[in-house]
Amino acid sequence: MLKTLRKIGSIGIISEPPPAPDPLLRVRERLDEKIRAVLGRALCIRHVDAGSCNGCELEIQALNNPLYNMEGLGIRFVASPRHADLLLVTGPVSRNMETALRRTYEATPDPKLVVAVGDCGCTGGIFGESYATRGPVSNVIPVDVAVPGCPPSPTRILQGILTAISSRGKL
Ligand code: SF4
Repeated sequence: MLKTLRKIGSIGIISEPPPAPDPLLRVRERLDEKIRAVLGRALCIRHVDAGSCNGCELEIQALNNPLYNMEGLGIRFVASPRHADLLLVTGPVSRNMETALRRTYEATPDPKLVVAVGDCGCTGGIFGESYATRGPVSNVIPVDVAVPGCPPSPTRILQGILTAISSRGKL
């Protein structure tokens, strides 16, 4: 026994370092609190692809997986803008989608929030403004929060949603 204790004493504690803090957990916790405080029910999001390459859509899709578990936070995607609290818009706005985006915005009940996702949604990105595209989402409808990145990670998208809800206080 003494031999074993001496051995333990000479080796010391050997174990893996503790895991680094996960920013996702903090964002999830604050988002959960905010949604309950501001809405008192689920946050309904209408996603609009205004002309993206689908890279941003892959990250948005990841919000539904078991890791990000968006539905567990009380956030869900809805098919109609008439049921939505928030529009999540990706891509530079192509000329073909300009009218559809504007109509979607008008069909969303007030007070409404708009989050532009990705470099293309924020600034026009690599597509810019041209004969085919109007550029950033803010050129077509008012934007509350812009989430840069090409594409932004699911955590950053959640942060953008949190910022949008926090900025409005009471919807
Ligand atoms: S920001 Fe990047 S990933 Fe998103 S639509 Fe633009 S090019 Fe695609």
